[in-house]
Amino acid sequence: MSTDTNAASGLTSDDLSKYNREMGTSSPTSSPATSVLSGLQTVRGWATEFYRDLHAHPELSHQEHATASKVAERLRASGIEVHSEVGGTGVVGIVRNGEGPKVLLRADMDALPIAEATGLDYASHATATDGDGNEVSVMHACGHDMHVACLLGVAHLLATARDVWVGTLIALFQPAEETGDGARSMLDANLAKVIPTPDVALAQHVLPAPSGLVGTNAGPTLSASDSMRITLHGRGAHGSMPQASVDPVVLAALVVVRLQTVVARETSPGERVVVTVGSIQAGTKSNVIPDHAVIELNIRTYSEQTRTSVLDAIRRIVDAECQASGCPKPADFELIDRFPLTDNDPDTTAKVAAAFASYFGERSRPLPMQTASEDFSDIPNAFGVPYCYWGIGGIDPDTDRKAELQGRVAQDIPVNHSAYFAPVIQPTLDTGIEAMVVAALASLGKPDSIDVPQGQT
Ligand code: ZN
Ligand code: ZN
Repeated sequence: MSTDTNAASGLTSDDLSKYNREMGTSSPTSSPATSVLSGLQTVRGWATEFYRDLHAHPELSHQEHATASKVAERLRASGIEVHSEVGGTGVVGIVRNGEGPKVLLRADMDALPIAEATGLDYASHATATDGDGNEVSVMHACGHDMHVACLLGVAHLLATARDVWVGTLIALFQPAEETGDGARSMLDANLAKVIPTPDVALAQHVLPAPSGLVGTNAGPTLSASDSMRITLHGRGAHGSMPQASVDPVVLAALVVVRLQTVVARETSPGERVVVTVGSIQAGTKSNVIPDHAVIELNIRTYSEQTRTSVLDAIRRIVDAECQASGCPKPADFELIDRFPLTDNDPDTTAKVAAAFASYFGERSRPLPMQTASEDFSDIPNAFGVPYCYWGIGGIDPDTDRKAELQGRVAQDIPVNHSAYFAPVIQPTLDTGIEAMVVAALASLGKPDSIDVPQGQT
């Protein structure tokens, strides 16, 4: 992606002065959404404090115990029915408001093993023990704290303004998105018995784009992701006697180079595929040729067909390189993480995009496909229901514009999972709350007494 398309997400704003970032001025007509969001100032204070506290106290995947209890407590304070410990630390709030559509809204809660470098006064200094027993720093470097604060605000606002909608709101707070198995853990814990079957599922994510913008895309939006561990078996020997070895270090180097051709030479230029070797481990000492090497790969694809052909190509290349090196046994392949494709339902997305256009005006944009991945779609896929997943910007618009003018977007705009990534609280928090309320109301039912302007549905 070229830097002239603005921030790394590709969610662009050609001229930010075009939209008015003053709160409440972007919605031209009165509607259920403007009615619900007239209460925004009543949640902005506590939602901001909630966000700052979560940001300062992040928890790793499947360890979101304090986060989950704060979420449950906040939902109860809003008078919402709460189900806790669904699949470990999952929390669900349900607002039952008569016969009508059932809409599931999802936020993820986990943080990452990263040492925060933002220098914010609410920066994290937290550490935790990861799954391998290592003490690691922990940081909300993907904006999940923002997702949680937004959804709590949304649930409160919709629970308060029950007179403008009918149906059931399911606010789902999911653990362990970063490890790709949090949605699955809630489903395995009988989520289907805890919540009514939704008619539609909605979720959002903070992206490195100007704060205040929302972006939607129909069809494939986030890639499917596979992570693979490959163990290459060589033969160890003294460093002075290479003739006695099958050197797995040289073999691993050749494999890494040859794997670059999967995208460069085997994939159509119009197809989007990423193959990254993110980890390579071998040996302990300069004069010992080790007996094995381990490489870890991450693969991103946008269709099941491409995914299969890329995984087959990787296996073919590794097997052939092992044979070329004379390895004593074939390599071992292990899939260690798998994220599903996020493939937005066209009808649901059209409805959400129309509601965004009506409410946000110029702040609603098309969202290009992202190479990131998510396990959100596991939930609607398990229920067999349509979904829409959209992006919201988190970068200070002035910082973003300055970086763009200087051609320094790649250098100056931190992306998700960077130690410097933290969304500006405003207008990100308001925009995230507004987007979820608007999208939820586009799917929830409307009582007969509510007059909905044309184009709002
Ligand atoms: Zn992430
Ligand atoms: Zn994330």
